[in-house]
Amino acid sequence: MVRTDIEARGVKDAAVLEAMRNTPRHAFVPEGLREQAYEDHPLPLIKGQTISQPFIVAVMTELLAPARTHRVLEIGTGSGYQAAVLSPLAQEVFSIEIVPELAHSAKSLLARLGYRNVQVLQGDGYQGWPEKAPFDRIILTAAPKDIPQTLLDQLKPGGRLVGPVGDGFFSQELVVVDKDSAGKLHRRSVLPVRFVPMVKP
Ligand code: SAH
Repeated sequence: MVRTDIEARGVKDAAVLEAMRNTPRHAFVPEGLREQAYEDHPLPLIKGQTISQPFIVAVMTELLAPARTHRVLEIGTGSGYQAAVLSPLAQEVFSIEIVPELAHSAKSLLARLGYRNVQVLQGDGYQGWPEKAPFDRIILTAAPKDIPQTLLDQLKPGGRLVGPVGDGFFSQELVVVDKDSAGKLHRRSVLPVRFVPMVKP
């Protein structure tokens, strides 16, 4: 899957490709769907949520450009798959999930699989994680209408945020926001995407 669906379609970063190869996606997919774990499409989780398409996970991870010295915040833990992909690429990964059952199962699965530098918090991503801020990198895997100011405030100068933004399933784009050393924000759109909405509690 990594060779035919991810590398062949333009993801080049060797560390990202290695992280994708080493992450057992089947462990994050519901049992009845495991045969499809290495097909390049999203799969359903409980409560109407989804585990993202591997190609998009790889693209977003490459755009995020995490480093082994970085503290990374993820909004939308879901299955925990994206957090697992980030684990070997970052110093610490902090991931917030609003649905208690998902937060719970991702937390125990990640622990069971040995992802020791990943912490999961059940809570509202719109608040970020003030106790652990600031972050070098922030990745959203659910789409808000606009990028929450709280999250931009929790981003370090020199930091980067990557995520889907937009109102509704058909009008989202993947954006990259860089915060320069003076704290000024630079935003660009990369490609159209479809993510579940980032819900308000
Ligand atoms: N990254 C996940 C896929 C995420 S799907 C994976 O790799 O499997 C998006 C997730 O965002 C869902 O689990 C959804 O419950 C969660 N979510 C939606 N709104 C949220 C919010 N306000 N705060 C935290 N999580 C949220």
